[in-house]
Amino acid sequence: MSSNPLLSVEGLTVQFFTDRGTVTAVNEISFEIQEEEIVGLVGESGAGKSVASMSLLRLINGPGRIVEGEIRYKDRTLFALEEGPDGEPRKREDMLSDEEMRTEIRGNEIAVIFQDPMESLNPVYTVGNQLQEFIKLNRDISKKEARSEAIRMLREVGISDAAERYEKYPHEFSGGMRQRVLIAMALACKPNLIIADEPTTALDVTIEGQILDLVQDLQEKYGTSFLWVTHDMGVVADICEQVNVMYLGNIVEQAPVDDIFYNTKHLYTDALLDSMPRPDRTVERLKAIKGVMPSAIDPPEGCPFHTRCPDARQVCEQTHPDLRDVSDDANIIHRSACLKHDIFNVNYEGSLPMTDETKRQANTSAGTTSVNETGADR
Ligand code: SF4
Repeated sequence: MSSNPLLSVEGLTVQFFTDRGTVTAVNEISFEIQEEEIVGLVGESGAGKSVASMSLLRLINGPGRIVEGEIRYKDRTLFALEEGPDGEPRKREDMLSDEEMRTEIRGNEIAVIFQDPMESLNPVYTVGNQLQEFIKLNRDISKKEARSEAIRMLREVGISDAAERYEKYPHEFSGGMRQRVLIAMALACKPNLIIADEPTTALDVTIEGQILDLVQDLQEKYGTSFLWVTHDMGVVADICEQVNVMYLGNIVEQAPVDDIFYNTKHLYTDALLDSMPRPDRTVERLKAIKGVMPSAIDPPEGCPFHTRCPDARQVCEQTHPDLRDVSDDANIIHRSACLKHDIFNVNYEGSLPMTDETKRQANTSAGTTSVNETGADR
């Protein structure tokens, strides 16, 4: 990991304590975001992506809690625990208070763009009013200055007739325009990092393309870093530089985007890529990923993907692979959590292949309650 990342996450674990059991929605994940970098967090619904990204701003509500790990932003500690005198974990002294998170970090340093703009915009106030209020709240400027800044930001995100549209209500905007408003709001306080949680999922493909182009233009202009949360490998290919692939709360592969696509080193990433159309490959049929993600309440032992993996062997049922650098190029860090790689030294080749029946049984005994169904993820 580099010496001076904008954001670093080390061993982050988030659990939800539900009536049906403890759900480990995020399991000891580590990653970094550099200045001016767009980093992807990709995986199927229920993989733990949204929980992981909201944890960065400590926006996890009960019954969920961050139980382990360290989150650092520049030289500040957003989250860290230490052992207290009673042996129980307690907040480390240098961890920012709730008040500091609210007034100094959220919005000002790290902003969020959500998937559904209608959830973020209040339908009874005009778009301009909401944008102006947000700017005034976060920056020390007058109402008049906030108004002209709001109009300038609307123009900046490509909304024509910005002064006129300033007076309109959210329902008078199209889905793509509302998402542009949220981007304007996120950029209004000039944050260094924006967490974009599936912001283009609800948009049709043409509008999605326009929004992705806009984000890239703005990223170049403002130098903002992004954590881009998505299930769509096409979006990852379009805008991300570094990619983290998540499955059942774990990061299973981590590499620069070209390596993820052209030198894939995890079977789950392979399966994700086989399920999407690609301009560089002609196939008769796209392949769906067999089976469903196992229960996050009672996850399978060993590799979390072994109940669906086409190359699973008996050793994969018994050994949980951590994320290790398996790169064959000394200049690139490419991490994978797959026992096929020699570095794991578990005699994968000598282990018997799992049959479809044993995989099916393993999937059934692990259950199939997704993280979503427990309320821990969207
Ligand atoms: S560890 Fe085994 S089950 Fe997991 S991805 Fe690799 S081959 Fe498949």
